[in-house]
Amino acid sequence: MSPRPYQICANCVMDTSDPHIVFDERGWCDYCNNFEFTIRPNWHTDQRGEDALKLLADKIRKEGKGKDFDCIIGLSGGLDSSYAAYVVKEKMGLRPLLFHVDAGWNTDQAVGNIEKLVDGLGLDLYTEVINWEEMKDLQVAFLRSQIPDQDLPQDAAFFSALYKFGHKQKIKYVITGSNFSTECCREPEEWGGYLGIDKLLFKDIHSRFGKRSLESFPLVDILVYKGLYQKILGMEIAKPLNLVSFVKKDAEEKLESRFGWQRFQHKHHESRFTRFYEDYWLPRKFGFHKRRAHFSSLIMTEQMTRDQALERISHPEMDEHFLQQEFEYVANKLDLTVNELQEIFCGENKTYHDYRNKRWLIGLGAKAMRWFGLEKRFFR
Ligand SMILES: [Zn+2]
Repeated sequence: MSPRPYQICANCVMDTSDPHIVFDERGWCDYCNNFEFTIRPNWHTDQRGEDALKLLADKIRKEGKGKDFDCIIGLSGGLDSSYAAYVVKEKMGLRPLLFHVDAGWNTDQAVGNIEKLVDGLGLDLYTEVINWEEMKDLQVAFLRSQIPDQDLPQDAAFFSALYKFGHKQKIKYVITGSNFSTECCREPEEWGGYLGIDKLLFKDIHSRFGKRSLESFPLVDILVYKGLYQKILGMEIAKPLNLVSFVKKDAEEKLESRFGWQRFQHKHHESRFTRFYEDYWLPRKFGFHKRRAHFSSLIMTEQMTRDQALERISHPEMDEHFLQQEFEYVANKLDLTVNELQEIFCGENKTYHDYRNKRWLIGLGAKAMRWFGLEKRFFR
């Protein structure tokens, strides 16, 4: 089979590095069409959004009566979760518990931002620290598995710990910074965007490449958090950023002027590993640029022009010297020599298909969510 000829969307910057992207006769991709026809008509940040936000706040407040907290917010120190914390406290008038998971890769800037928000909003913070030896073992196992989904260990730690804590403390509402404004173009799963926390995949990879058992690492399977916690026990995930005007630049300015919060150069830069993974590992080893999806979201929501995105994407976000330093830092931190990490980097690329997984089942659930209109973002 000859490779597909290169094509880039005429409206955003998604291209055929997404192997299944589809273009219409205008040259627009399926992400743009999904935004125009599925997301935009259902996304209201005007009075309708305000009314819905008030309704949501009333519901959450009622549920929290007599309890220490109304809800819980997963806070990374990045823009989306930080702004969500601000909205929940200041605009919704709620009493959230801020919940942070320290998986060992926080940038100083992320830590500073969390401290400033906690002080500025006058809220309580609970920090769960992941056992570093286990985290490291799992991350090295994932690297050795050669799949592109190298942020699964961090993501799993963040969300599992959050859901677990919420479940244990009987907190019904979990607030996330998930939003259409900066994330309406969800990256394809080929780019390391596996659809959820799949214990089967984790166990298979870790049993092949891991060296120690995972005693305390929080790992809640997608069937447990979507099925048991949410559908049966009634935990609800709320995304208030979709109900307010959330413009990246304005939100950054607001947090800076109100709290001394500091903006990041790019999305996901609050984690030193994610920054390295998205700016070095994934583009250079696999040819996938997550920034394409990030910028495309901003283009669709009219916060960036296509030309600006093309210019930014034409060079790495961080300079070469910095990236080489980060390569060494990541190797050292994971107890690998630079040569060992380089060897893994040069190894043969694989995908989750090479390991045991239950992707088919997760896909079925995800398709059902779209049929019922509960998930508007696009995936195939
Ligand atoms: Zn497009």
